[in-house]
Amino acid sequence: MAASVDSVATGRPSAPRPGPVPWVAMYHSVGDCSDDPYRITVTPGRLERQLAWLRRRGLRGVSVAELLAARARGEGRGLVGLTFDDGYTDFLTGALPLLRRFRCGATLFVLPGRLGGDNAWDPLGPRKPLLTADGIRRAAAEGVEIGSHGLTHVDLTRADDATLTAEVAESRARLEELTGAPADGFCYPYGTVDARAVEAVRKAGYTYACAIDPGPLTGPHALPRAHVGQNDTAWRLHLKLRLHRLRRRPVEGL
Ligand SMILES: [Zn+2]
Repeated sequence: MAASVDSVATGRPSAPRPGPVPWVAMYHSVGDCSDDPYRITVTPGRLERQLAWLRRRGLRGVSVAELLAARARGEGRGLVGLTFDDGYTDFLTGALPLLRRFRCGATLFVLPGRLGGDNAWDPLGPRKPLLTADGIRRAAAEGVEIGSHGLTHVDLTRADDATLTAEVAESRARLEELTGAPADGFCYPYGTVDARAVEAVRKAGYTYACAIDPGPLTGPHALPRAHVGQNDTAWRLHLKLRLHRLRRRPVEGL
C-alpha cells in the first residue's frame, strides 16, 4: 500500500482509513422456491448463476469471519460475505456443492435450540427441516463457519432479560460444544436489533454480529446485509452492490 500523506509527514504509519462497510449477502434456504411467501429461497440454479456473476466480477464469497479478518489486515478487496440463516438441511444439498465448486466460503447461522426441527416460527408457507447436530458438524468439516442465530428464533428486541441472555449466551456455549470450535459470529433473528441486543451480543463474547439494516447501530456487532433472492439476476445484483457502496458510509472499526 502507498504511504499516506500522514505517514510521510510523521514517519509513522497512519491507521488505515476505513473503507466502505463490507458487502454481505443474506441467503436462507436453497431449494424449490415454488411456495415461498417470505422470499427466503433461491433455487440451486439461481445460486449457481449468482456465484458465477461474482466470479466474473473478480469477487469471491467468503465467511464473515474471513472477510473481517482480511479487512483488518488491510486486504479484503474482492471479497464478499456469504451468509445462510436458520440452518436448513438444504444447505448441505443445495448450497454446499456449489460453494465447493466456486471455491467460496460461507457462514451458516444455526439455531441450537431447534436441532432437527423446522421453521415453526414462520406461520405461512412450507415447513422446512433444520439441520441436526450431525448436519451442522458436516458443514463445519467442509470449512463452513458456524455462527449462532440464537437458540430458537426469537425477536431479541422483544425478549425479556432472561430470554435475551439465554438466546445469545447459551446458544454460543451450545454451539461451541457441538462443533468443538469457537462461535464468533451472531445473527439477529428477523434482523431486528437495538442497543440492548447489541450489548448482550458483545457481552457474550461474539466478535461480530449480522443484522439487515441496522442504521445508526451499524458496526462490527450490527453489520448490514443485502437480501439476495430468486429474482436477483446479474443486473439486479449489480445494482444492489452499487447501491450498497453509495449508501453505506465508512464506519470506525469496520
Ligand atoms: Zn432467521
